[in-house]
Amino acid sequence: MLEEIGRGSPDGRTKRRPIHCEECTIQIGDGYQETIPFEFVDDESSPRPKVMRVCWRCWESLNRRKAKRLGQSDGSSPGLIS
Ligand SMILES: [Zn+2]
Repeated sequence: MLEEIGRGSPDGRTKRRPIHCEECTIQIGDGYQETIPFEFVDDESSPRPKVMRVCWRCWESLNRRKAKRLGQSDGSSPGLIS
């Protein structure tokens, strides 16, 4: 069933090239310290959200920053105190 599909590409998959984390610029890819790029959507960026490819550390901290930003949007407590 799968014979003769895409005669142009012998290996079927596109080889992943190492990319750079858009936050800290380390390389991400096979053989590097970080192997999986994460996508972070920066919806603060205007006019439209920007998708960044970052290492997971940056992804984590970006998300933390984002959550903080959202959590602090109003000065008062969000209702967690009893
Ligand atoms: Zn990074």
